[in-house]
Amino acid sequence: MDVKIFEYDVVIVGAGLAGLAAARETTVAGKKTAVITKLHPLRSHSGAAQGGINAALGAEDSTDLHAFDTIKGSDYLADQDCVQLMCEKAPETIRWAEHMGAVFSRDDNGDIAIRPFGGQSKPRACYAKDRTGLTLLQTMYEQAFRSGIEVFDEWYCSDLIYKDGKVSGVVAFNIRDGKMAIFNSKATMFATGGYGRAYKINSNAHANTGDALSIVARHGLPLEDMEFVQFHPSGIGGSGILISEAARGEGGRLLNSKGERFMEKYAPNALELASRDVVSRAIQQEIREGRGVGPNKDSVYIDLTHLDPQIILTKLPELRELAITFLGQDMLKEPIYIAATAHYSMGGIPVDINCHVKKNPNELIEGFYAAGECSCVSVHGANRLGANSVLEALLFGRHAGESIVKDIDNLTFRPADVKDAQNAINELTWVKTNNGNERVPVLRAELQESMTDNAGVFRTAESLKKQVKKIKELLKRYKNIRIDDKTSTFNTELQEAIELGHMLEYSLFIVEGALARKESRGAHFREDFPKRDDKKFLKHTYAYMDKEYNITQEYADVVLGKFEVKERSY
Ligand SMILES: Cc1cc2nc3c(=O)[nH]c(=O)nc-3n(C[C@H](O)[C@H](O)[C@H](O)COP(=O)(O)OP(=O)(O)OC[C@H]3O[C@@H](n4cnc5c(N)ncnc54)[C@H](O)[C@@H]3O)c2cc1C
Repeated sequence: MDVKIFEYDVVIVGAGLAGLAAARETTVAGKKTAVITKLHPLRSHSGAAQGGINAALGAEDSTDLHAFDTIKGSDYLADQDCVQLMCEKAPETIRWAEHMGAVFSRDDNGDIAIRPFGGQSKPRACYAKDRTGLTLLQTMYEQAFRSGIEVFDEWYCSDLIYKDGKVSGVVAFNIRDGKMAIFNSKATMFATGGYGRAYKINSNAHANTGDALSIVARHGLPLEDMEFVQFHPSGIGGSGILISEAARGEGGRLLNSKGERFMEKYAPNALELASRDVVSRAIQQEIREGRGVGPNKDSVYIDLTHLDPQIILTKLPELRELAITFLGQDMLKEPIYIAATAHYSMGGIPVDINCHVKKNPNELIEGFYAAGECSCVSVHGANRLGANSVLEALLFGRHAGESIVKDIDNLTFRPADVKDAQNAINELTWVKTNNGNERVPVLRAELQESMTDNAGVFRTAESLKKQVKKIKELLKRYKNIRIDDKTSTFNTELQEAIELGHMLEYSLFIVEGALARKESRGAHFREDFPKRDDKKFLKHTYAYMDKEYNITQEYADVVLGKFEVKERSY
């Protein structure tokens, strides 16, 4: 196969908020930067973020309070130094985004408006109506473009070139014609976003298939805290499409089939605005106990009919449209069906506070960076607070760009050649020519259904063991796939097959991590170990995979700080 070779100072995979923010920094500093993305940048999942981006801007708020809420929300698993950095830099990040052209909603005084979100002791989610992510993504794209980034859109990154403990760049193919290329660079960054598509009911874009995670893991490198998957309380009943937390922030109430405002039982103080893990479990518990609503009794109501219609029309217009389109329910007139949906992944590629990827808990990899949802820095610990992840993507994306600029003169350029693309070429050829009898959509559906059933909001040793077995079975059957489209132009069947390979592998990390963590913390709830166990598990998980899909795990210390580890209640 003809393999083209490109040379850049910096190669960034991913054009969401994290990737674009980094790319802007490196190009402004005069570094030749390529951004590789399987989607057009403006189709990245960042653009779907509705509710907001946190910063302590309110008169009664402080960065310390923001940090405290974040650490408490994380069930004390977040690294406190990273949280402090994020919360201290948040107000400046908002002003920076605004100066770049992002138009935020305003309050009556003309200040940037802030709304309450779950688990936050003060209103601090800045927003642009309910299209916050889109506004920020458009701004970042314009500015990164203006600064001179080179975008390779509709290019699929399929391998990392990692030799002798060092990174040389990546291998990618052009989705338009199937041609492979090597991108050599001094600095390589992954910003490939979330991976909620492993679950049947999820809020994520179809592209969120966690490719970079398993690409990294295939080189024997670790993934961190993968067992922590956030289930957002309000996915549209049946599909999981997101109804932002802004709906509860603006005053939405949750009701069961008896019309009871059930959060009074589970979080008497914070009610609907307890942290997401608490609200999601409450919803699923009501459904389990037979107080669900909807055609399959698998939802509860969110009721906004008591609100001034102007609030819905001006602050939540997109949410209303989504519910009309997907449920036929108008939130101005009636309560709508919602249930928990797989939404966000707290775990990912381990990085230090300056976004350098780690080889193990104590060693960094030269020239390799990650930021945004694919990474684990870790500011969210066991449970992320709403409106903290757009912040993380933008802030740590930019911070990664700054780190690269700082490091780059001391990084060695060690170009890879055509033979380093061999693994990626082999994978592509194998998918095209393998002549088995298994079908990708069937295997994917079985993975997604079983993940929702066995590794969802509630978990037990039994359900998790069953899921490990299921994934191993699916990995075996995956070796026996066949695709019909053998062409090279926009071969989505081929791409989906490769993506399924990634999904199966990172799902194994999620389940093995959950099985080993015999406690309940944040989003990870073990019915057989319902209590948090700080003695054994106030630790980050680092997991590694071998060629036979055996996972080994070790634990690393959490960076503690001034906020004392306490029991969490809302
Ligand atoms: C519906 C929804 C609403 C949300 N609302 C909020 C909110 O209100 N507030 C908040 O704080 N958070 C919210 N979040 C979470 C937040 O939006 C994301 O965590 C964040 O935007 C992720 O940004 P990112 O830059 O890491 O990744 P993304 O924006 O997902 O970008 C990933 C990029 O990687 C590229 N990519 C992936 N794999 C490959 C590959 N193999 N080859 C090439 N390119 C690849 C994609 O093309 C894309 O450009 C929401 C999430 C969802 C799903």
